[in-house]
Amino acid sequence: MSHEVDVLRQLINNGSLDEQEAMVRGIAQLAVDQGFENLSDRQQAVLQPHLTQACAGVEDPGGYHNDCNVILEGRALAVALEQEGYYGAVLCEDCVNETEQYAQEWERIKRE
Ligand SMILES: [Zn+2]
Repeated sequence: MSHEVDVLRQLINNGSLDEQEAMVRGIAQLAVDQGFENLSDRQQAVLQPHLTQACAGVEDPGGYHNDCNVILEGRALAVALEQEGYYGAVLCEDCVNETEQYAQEWERIKRE
């Protein structure tokens, strides 16, 4: 299974393509059903912009945004999209770690 298909399946499941033209969603579904490599060059080109996404970055508890600009693609993007519902944003691995760290600190502060 190619990572493109993983990414596209997540995009479809998350409803991230709902705002796109029906044609885009149709081609994405076709890729999931038949494999990305079996699409024509033109069809692949339509999906290309959706196969990379910039990390949304995280804000520390002080409201400082880390300005993360990692471009996610392939497996990293598929994983980020899978976790999008949980974290509320598409995040790279570093930002996920950072978010977890803040959450733990926050838990500790609340307990004290
Ligand atoms: Zn990041």
